[in-house]
Amino acid sequence: MKFGTKVIHSGLITDPSTGAIITPIYQTSTYVQKKPGDNMGYEYSRTANPTRTALEKNIAALENGKYSICYSSGMGAADAIIKLLKPGDTIVANKDIYGGTYRMFEKVFSKFNLNFEYSDLTEEDNLHNTITKKTKLVWIETPSNPLMSIIDIRAIKKHISTHCPHKVLLVIDNTFATPVLQNPLEFGADIVLHSVTKYLGGHSDLVMGALITNAKSVYDQLFLITKSCGAVPGPMDCFLALRGIKTLNIRMLKHCENAEKINHFLSKIDKVDKIYWPGRKEHKNYKVAKQQMKNFGGMISFTLKSNSFQDAITFISNTKLFKLAESLGGVESLISHPASMTHASIPKEEREKNNLSDSLIRISVGIEDYKDLIDDLNNAFNRIKA
Ligand code: PLP
Repeated sequence: MKFGTKVIHSGLITDPSTGAIITPIYQTSTYVQKKPGDNMGYEYSRTANPTRTALEKNIAALENGKYSICYSSGMGAADAIIKLLKPGDTIVANKDIYGGTYRMFEKVFSKFNLNFEYSDLTEEDNLHNTITKKTKLVWIETPSNPLMSIIDIRAIKKHISTHCPHKVLLVIDNTFATPVLQNPLEFGADIVLHSVTKYLGGHSDLVMGALITNAKSVYDQLFLITKSCGAVPGPMDCFLALRGIKTLNIRMLKHCENAEKINHFLSKIDKVDKIYWPGRKEHKNYKVAKQQMKNFGGMISFTLKSNSFQDAITFISNTKLFKLAESLGGVESLISHPASMTHASIPKEEREKNNLSDSLIRISVGIEDYKDLIDDLNNAFNRIKA
């Protein structure tokens, strides 16, 4: 089945009692049993729920994976992965992972005697220094947030296979690319993570996560963790995610198309300094992006020539269609300013070292008419000095 058909049909169940075409919202916590253990496949909704099962089958199909588990948030999914590890294990992550993931590693899990190391994994040379015999898990986000770094998943997998005699789990956070643009299991990833909150849900109306794997043993461990720890989504949210995913394919085409137009517009604006979008020939890993992604996505970051914190604030406060809000991947365009929002807790010098400059602005390009989006950005540029 082709991707555009899978989003609409995979995993879905027609209601057996009415023939309703849409998978019902099985809003139930428990299931009647004829006698102990004699049930219709469901016992209690923390363990499994039919609406969630339909969504899990659908998401597994999108990533060409055998198994999927859905969570009450992307971070709930990330939490389950780390619980696969043991005290003393070392995790290597690329250095510009999502701030919430970094916070979970450092503030929650480091006290369980897990070691977290961060490295610029866009540089192949760094693989040798950081992914070693001690490493038990490699955590990668590509494209990354907010600088759209691209990491070569195949190169990481090759390095692990040649240099690590023991099993190392390769985890790819595929939230920014979505399964429309990139399927990490095909490049050797062991687990793919999605914040379903973003493009998969697509309508800024739910918070959810998902994991996908081809390895039965990994799935069995994750299933045990999930039913034991309980970070599962409710059936109503699963219904919303199933509904959102039906248009994922066509939404992503439009996100990418609009982003390309906006990249072109930004390249002509004198007040703009750097533009971070994987589809630019100038992007450090453009070649890798072209090989491992089918298109370049709807997320763009850029800086201002003035590099003024105040100019960035003026800019983000003057867009009307680009709403100032955290999150991304919805049909509506969003704008954010990492230095005053997501990365405000990092000292300025530390931020600047990692290219998170004072004027860095991140946009999640929606699927509105691109001409209106460009007009909106243009008006905001007119509000700042040359
Ligand atoms: N991964 C990435 C790349 C994200 O951007 C986010 C949230 O912004 C998450 C994971 C966490 O997902 P959630 O907010 O659904 O918990």
